[in-house]
Amino acid sequence: MNKTSIKRNILLNPGPSTTTDSVKLAQVVPDICPREKEFAGLMKGLRDDLVKIVHGDTDKFTSVLFCGSGTLNIDVCINSLLPADSKVLVVNNGAYSTRAVEICEYYGLPHIDLRFPVDELPDLEAVEKTLRDNPDIALVHTTHNETGTGILNPIREIGALAHKYNAVFTVDTTSTYAMIPIDIEKENIDFCMASAQKGLMAMTGLSFVVGRRDIIERSASYPKRSYYCNLFLQYDYFEKTGEMHFTPPVQTIYAAIQALKEYWQEGETAKWERHKRVFEAIHKGLDELGFKDVIKREWQCGLVVSVKYPDDPNWDFEKVHDYCYDRGFTIYPGKISTTSTFRLCALGAIDTDDIVSFFSVFKGALKANGIRIPVKYE
Ligand SMILES: *Cc1c(COP(=O)(O)O)cnc(C)c1O
Repeated sequence: MNKTSIKRNILLNPGPSTTTDSVKLAQVVPDICPREKEFAGLMKGLRDDLVKIVHGDTDKFTSVLFCGSGTLNIDVCINSLLPADSKVLVVNNGAYSTRAVEICEYYGLPHIDLRFPVDELPDLEAVEKTLRDNPDIALVHTTHNETGTGILNPIREIGALAHKYNAVFTVDTTSTYAMIPIDIEKENIDFCMASAQKGLMAMTGLSFVVGRRDIIERSASYPKRSYYCNLFLQYDYFEKTGEMHFTPPVQTIYAAIQALKEYWQEGETAKWERHKRVFEAIHKGLDELGFKDVIKREWQCGLVVSVKYPDDPNWDFEKVHDYCYDRGFTIYPGKISTTSTFRLCALGAIDTDDIVSFFSVFKGALKANGIRIPVKYE
């Protein structure tokens, strides 16, 4: 196969991300039945690596793989880790934490939806008061980087409060894992999660929860609310057989293993430096064109910029998107119900050159649509 025949697109959406050709090509392997020992061996190494990325001790922490997109992890954690007769507290300042609230609703789980404005950090005093007033809260959940806005939440502080009140702390780290360096114990995380197509820069279809073995083992006696998506059942099957309970996404796993090799080669620090550099280049390009962002700079995660639509009668996101898409660049709509926004993200196997190329195309899109530069706000 000719490597250069794969067109390189620059994805500035919040995942799936731009991948290297070597990760794409790693999927092309001889057919194998995933019940062979050879395949189970691959998954063992993969599971250990996923714990090491967040600096977890593999005796204390484990990773459990699932076949599905990232939302599956939120579903798994919430439906599996809540003991009977207790409540979930969701610290909610955005669309992804709202997803966790909806999961509680669908399973009929007692929960408190502690809401904060999408452009503000959660008020820790309100979190503590809620925990103090509701001793039946057994699980606290929040989102690390709210990918809808790009706000970075204070998980270490929220985790400390959860533990002070004897609750398990689950964090949706889907859009920070393998990008922002995370030390699972220092951040007071009991469970975090991600999907192979985000920070790992691999393919869609493989998701995983990384968390405390003792808590998973304790959860064996908790109510079983889902058959396919139960954390203990999947963990137990892995521990006994080394395999996923049901058919794994075979080729996606080969790609993830290659992506992990590339992760260790690039290195945690260098990778995060690259994402930050890309993020700075995105800001520079937006500043030059006069665009305004939604979240205060010091609260931004360094991975997602949420940009306000300019007040120009010719502004049309779809048209700008299509112009860029035709030229190999993907931009993405926002996820805030009250403000019209779009997003540019620093995920994936991209660097500052790609952002410079993007802005020359993006500027072309503004000109082609008769949008004033610099853009104006009322
Ligand atoms: C991408 C993402 C998810 C998962 O979304 P899927 O579409 O199910 O893959 C979950 N949480 C956050 C914070 C994300 O960025």
